[in-house]
Amino acid sequence: MTAQANVGVVGLAAMGASLARNLAHHGNTVAIYNRTPKRTDTLMEQHGDEGAFVPSYTLQDFVDSLIPPRTAIIMVKAGEPTDEMINALADLMQPGDIIVDAGNAYFPDTMRREKEIRARGLHFVGCGVSGGEEGALKGPSMMPGGTEESWQTLKPILESIAAKAEGEPCVTHIGANGAGHFVKMVHNGIEYSDMQLIAESYDLMRRGLGMSANEIGDVFEQWNKSELESYLIEITADVLHEQDKTTGKPLVDIILDHAGMKGTGTWTVQTALSLGVPVTGIAEAVFARGLSSQTALRQGAQAIDFAGPDGSLQLSEQERESFIEDIRHALYASKIVAYAQGFNEITTAAQEYDWKIDLAAVARIWRGGCIIRAKFLNRIAEAFESGQAETSLLFAPYFKEAIEQAQASWRRVVARAAQYGIPTPVFASSLSYFDGLRADRLPAALIQGQRDYFGAHTYQRVDKEGTFHTLWAEEGRPEINA
Ligand code: NDP
Repeated sequence: MTAQANVGVVGLAAMGASLARNLAHHGNTVAIYNRTPKRTDTLMEQHGDEGAFVPSYTLQDFVDSLIPPRTAIIMVKAGEPTDEMINALADLMQPGDIIVDAGNAYFPDTMRREKEIRARGLHFVGCGVSGGEEGALKGPSMMPGGTEESWQTLKPILESIAAKAEGEPCVTHIGANGAGHFVKMVHNGIEYSDMQLIAESYDLMRRGLGMSANEIGDVFEQWNKSELESYLIEITADVLHEQDKTTGKPLVDIILDHAGMKGTGTWTVQTALSLGVPVTGIAEAVFARGLSSQTALRQGAQAIDFAGPDGSLQLSEQERESFIEDIRHALYASKIVAYAQGFNEITTAAQEYDWKIDLAAVARIWRGGCIIRAKFLNRIAEAFESGQAETSLLFAPYFKEAIEQAQASWRRVVARAAQYGIPTPVFASSLSYFDGLRADRLPAALIQGQRDYFGAHTYQRVDKEGTFHTLWAEEGRPEINA
């Protein structure tokens, strides 16, 4: 087999086949290999004329067909199959060659793999890919980690296939080892929050205002012309306008209300807990999906028939219009909090793992190709570029003003939802996060007192340096310098 391909793809299921075709569409000569030959044959039969493919039926032939330094992109099942494939390739490749894992890996796995492969003299790049199968084919947003040296080789290849936002390719070198998969993980966490916020908005209109799915679809269509313009708002309008073919009812009424998940949201929250970063909105979004799927628990609660409001907001015609506007403002403010929390997690991890992550560049590559693509990411990029969002996105004047303007609406939405019995976990927790940040004094002082009382955990004082403990059980409760 002569070396002729500048890039190769291993694993030709939905994602790998789409990525290989995208590469071929953009002038790359693409080596392809799949464990089961049938997938390779199917790709060649159905799409072989779309560009330059070099099919192989053994991994050795696949590696031999690549021009050094060889670049092999792995798109196989996450977990053990990915480890097996990385090792099999590393056995056949040469020092300086590049193995890219473009699957959905958990970043500690990527860090471990990078270390192992680096020890063998090869480059290992964990690359987050967002946009699903269609994105992989037509232009994904990509988040590669790994060395600067490997980025120099990968840059033209990945830029050729990435989505373009305002003419710029949606790919950038995120940072060393696991940084790419970390940022992709947080992207998914923000996506969970964004989706839950949209769902809460829908619920407020559907149950709260008694609007039809179609009417709410129209509202989202309008909102997509505002600062909320985004892919998720756009597809929400489509989903709500869809009729079920068999019953003629809105499809959303026929779909079982159990939200699934594959684990990236959970990883985002678990990691945030380890790093000590409060990503409250993302956590509530993950838990809301969890609750939705707790069939026995929900059926049990239905059977008990708890007394309480039924979710109807009972507003006059005039109040309804202004409440829909309130929901729009609450959605925008909460969405800003979701991004602020997500970026906060990235910043904290960057310090922990010594990654140099350009947050403005991250915001820019999320403008196209990925699920959370949105107009306001331009504003986020500007906020980071100007240095105004170094501590928190909420501190940048543009977002400070946006939240302040939305604030009264946001509070009305959360208050009404609580009063009338509509669950709004992400609206409410985002508002609490904001109020927690703003507070001059937090009740954490009381918690420190309690901790010192039962566990002698000590506390600090506001008026002098040092660590103190109160002898709570003794008369007069004397304080000692602990
Ligand atoms: P799957 O996750 O369904 O994996 C199927 C592919 O893995 C097939 O090519 C299969 O080969 C190969 N494979 C499985 N086990 C092995 C093994 N032990 N050795 C060699 N090859 C093996 O495919 P997808 O295309 O859905 O996803 C690929 C990767 O991309 C996954 O990591 C996924 O998490 C990630 N991803 C998926 C997205 C999506 O929207 N689907 C979005 C972003 C990332 P064979 O044909 O021989 O069975």
